[in-house]
Amino acid sequence: MVNCALAVAAGPVVLAITFDYGQHAVFREIDAAKGVCARYSIPHRRISLPWLAEITSSDLVREGARPPELTKADLDDPEKTKDSARAVWVPNRNWIMIEIAAAFAEVLGAGRIVAGFNREEAATFPDNSAAYLEAVNRSLAFSSGAPVQVISYTAQMNKKEIVQAGLRNQAPLAKVWSCYRGEEKMCGFCESCRRLKRAVSGTEAEEMLNGCFAG
Ligand SMILES: [Zn+2]
Repeated sequence: MVNCALAVAAGPVVLAITFDYGQHAVFREIDAAKGVCARYSIPHRRISLPWLAEITSSDLVREGARPPELTKADLDDPEKTKDSARAVWVPNRNWIMIEIAAAFAEVLGAGRIVAGFNREEAATFPDNSAAYLEAVNRSLAFSSGAPVQVISYTAQMNKKEIVQAGLRNQAPLAKVWSCYRGEEKMCGFCESCRRLKRAVSGTEAEEMLNGCFAG
């Protein structure tokens, strides 16, 4: 969402895509994305990847699975975060999403794909790192029929810095959906919720998210 706000500030955004790979939170993610797109008048499209849902046993997708719950202190424990990342890993997800977005970008004449990467999670998700962006861009130069590059305004930021960038750019932070689960409210305990809660703590955004977490 912060990347969307920063992209809008940089120039026209022609399409936003939410991928449905069977994740429990898909309807919440779509609602959140549509809310952000409505704010900036960006067309939104959902792309279903049923085969990816079928082959993955990730806690994000598997029926009845609940992603690990972490404490705030666990976020700084490499073993705990490695286990959490393994539990929610979806095979080749970021590459698949970027390459599909690249096909749209080529057809729509958009030179840039904007992804929501961050330095904080790059430690356990290598496909969320600045080094990965560089590698994908090298490959896009071969696979795209027009100049298409993937960027992320936040790849070098931790989540606290991303929240600050969102506040500075009036991003609609109250519309965020961080949770690995798809319940009515964000759970507040999965790794993604824990990171968001830590990032907003002590900022104006904390109040904006008041009541958004179940715990
Ligand atoms: Zn959660």
